[in-house]
Amino acid sequence: MSVNLASARLWRGVPQAIAAIIAVVALAFVVPADGYYLNILMQAVTYAIAVSGLVVVLGYCGQISIAQAAFFGLGAYGVAIGMVDFHLGFFPAWLCGIGVAGILGLILGLGSLRLGGHYLAMVTISFQQILTLFLTNWLSFTHGPDGIRDIPRPSLGPISFAGGHAFLALCMVTLVIVTLAVWRLKTGRLGRAMQAVRDNELAASTCGIDVFGTKVIAFGLSAVLGGIGGGLFAGGFQYISPDQFSFGESIVLLTMALLGGVQSPFGSLVGTLVLIILPEWLRFLKQIYLAVYGAAVILIMVFLPDGLWGLMLDRVRKRAKPILGEVEKLPLLTQTGQESAEIVLEVKELAKHFGGLKALDGISLKVRRGSVHALIGPNGSGKSTFINVITGLYKPTAGQVLFAGQDITHEQPHLRNRAGLARTFQNIRVWRGMTVLENVMVGGERPGNDVAEDAALVVERALAALDFVGLRGDAHRMVGDLSYGHQRYVEIARALAATPKTLLLDEPAAGLNLTEKHELGELLRRLKGHGLTILIIDHDMKLVEQVADHITVLNFGRRIADGLPREVLNHPDVIAAYLGEPQEAAGVVA
Ligand code: ADP
Ligand code: MG
Repeated sequence: MSVNLASARLWRGVPQAIAAIIAVVALAFVVPADGYYLNILMQAVTYAIAVSGLVVVLGYCGQISIAQAAFFGLGAYGVAIGMVDFHLGFFPAWLCGIGVAGILGLILGLGSLRLGGHYLAMVTISFQQILTLFLTNWLSFTHGPDGIRDIPRPSLGPISFAGGHAFLALCMVTLVIVTLAVWRLKTGRLGRAMQAVRDNELAASTCGIDVFGTKVIAFGLSAVLGGIGGGLFAGGFQYISPDQFSFGESIVLLTMALLGGVQSPFGSLVGTLVLIILPEWLRFLKQIYLAVYGAAVILIMVFLPDGLWGLMLDRVRKRAKPILGEVEKLPLLTQTGQESAEIVLEVKELAKHFGGLKALDGISLKVRRGSVHALIGPNGSGKSTFINVITGLYKPTAGQVLFAGQDITHEQPHLRNRAGLARTFQNIRVWRGMTVLENVMVGGERPGNDVAEDAALVVERALAALDFVGLRGDAHRMVGDLSYGHQRYVEIARALAATPKTLLLDEPAAGLNLTEKHELGELLRRLKGHGLTILIIDHDMKLVEQVADHITVLNFGRRIADGLPREVLNHPDVIAAYLGEPQEAAGVVA
């Protein structure tokens, strides 16, 4: 790519960002000098920065954190202790607070995120309580429950932020930068990886995404954003105390994020403003104001699951015209070759036991380069288990898996994908919060792929893959809006965009109607024509017969036949195995 193009991309959006910054600085200075409005705005702006951290960790990555007030507090105490007790400048003290928040966030994340589930929520609740105890009781360091007063405000060269308006301007500029950064994160490679993890972890890991690493980064970023907001809060109010960073405040921050819409930093901004201004508006209600306020929040959350911002976006989307894909054909690059004797995938004596059930019982199999190898067998014979062990989702009980000359038996799923193994799932696993194009782009972005480092080439590759499966015109639709069969094609395109050395298809015909099955057969023949190495699992004989060069048959976790299609399909054991399923048996004998 030319340097010009690269720098153009780098500068894209920068003029708008500068305009936004100038606008908010001007805005900060038109606020009435009355302390009341300044305080409300200062609170809203610093909170909104912390809430945007929740957009990253919860909205993008799907991990529940209930300690955002704790990270906010770490930033605030960093500024307060750093300036008052250690006589640091505001900015170095702020950096210390942000650093401590970020490091503690990483440690918590590393310790809890591997466990999956809602462990992060539990761990962050405990962390929140421990920090409160710590802030309240370590008198000599934190000044205890009385808090820290007279926190100075900074100056930067000739610019002084001592006045309320100037400091509010600093907070608002920071908010603009943070909001734009979080917004851009969503449409970048890391943001897409986070959303893939949120929508379906298994699919993310088999598309080359380091699920654990991605979650840790998301949580670390959210802690840093909490710290940034907290440091400004301390400078803004010039007085802090432990009760401002309690568990209750974490819940308030979480509510702000959910109320506005946790999928977007603009949503969190709306949520924060509403939750800070609403109580002020409702004050005239006197005694019942808290009840009305609570009821309003509950009603909004129940009736608008995507928050206030989600509602606005829906309106906009309904009015937008659908974007049509361009028509010119794009070549799809695949790692292909003439069918040859070279073995790409070799499985030796593979076993997988679930308690007493031997789902796989010593399976050996060799897949030759450029061939279509079918693995068939009745329901429950161990086919999906086989693919799950090969792709690293299950650990084998015994045996060995060699891929492209490497022993990958104990490799993690995302590293197997990076080595060139791509798959689809029997039960479709697409990322529903993303568009068709974004789903396929993640496939193309697997580290090590030829286009992975260049966003424009990733888009091109993804469009080429969509073109190949006939869905280019649907690129900008949400993937959940497609029919079941087309969602399956999205999975295939996602796998193809990764330029796999071998494609594993787990029952691609499952759940398709007759027309769709016919289309699938056609698609498979085109893939075969490309010379891609494919391991296809199915129990639909007719489909397999059309495309397979080689067939292996499983029954009750054992290999009962292996060889050329004609020999295998007429093998007496195979016929017997399928007699339990009359329609399939007819397929075999025919
Ligand atoms: P197929 O894909 O050939 O229909 P599977 O590989 O899904 O069959 O299943 C093979 C056997 O292993 C079945 O008896 C199934 O119930 C069992 N099985 C599969 N996955 C698990 C699991 N995660 N835990 C326990 N049993 C499992
Ligand atoms: Mg299966």
